[in-house]
Amino acid sequence: MKSRFEIVKTSAEAPSEPSDALLLEPWFRNRQETTALKRLQTFAERQKFADFFELNGCVRCAKKSGPHRGEGFCVSCHDWFRNQLQRAMRARQNGEFDSDRRQ
Ligand SMILES: [Zn+2]
Repeated sequence: MKSRFEIVKTSAEAPSEPSDALLLEPWFRNRQETTALKRLQTFAERQKFADFFELNGCVRCAKKSGPHRGEGFCVSCHDWFRNQLQRAMRARQNGEFDSDRRQ
């Protein structure tokens, strides 16, 4: 009988082109999930948001003058982003979106 499981070897090196599905990880995860995901990431993957900020500035305002708050945002833009995400989630919970639209 053939085994249902197969051993898959993975490289310790990061792929040259990370998949889109994993590129923003660990965005939007709780602390426990973030910790678990970071253990699976390479150093370059773990540092990508801080490195992005150093190279390009804030994702939203492009300023490099302030400190990096997280996820590629400066302090004020991170607050703005968090508030907009919460607003979007409340809108979803309140049925403000057309359920037939594309995701
Ligand atoms: Zn900013």
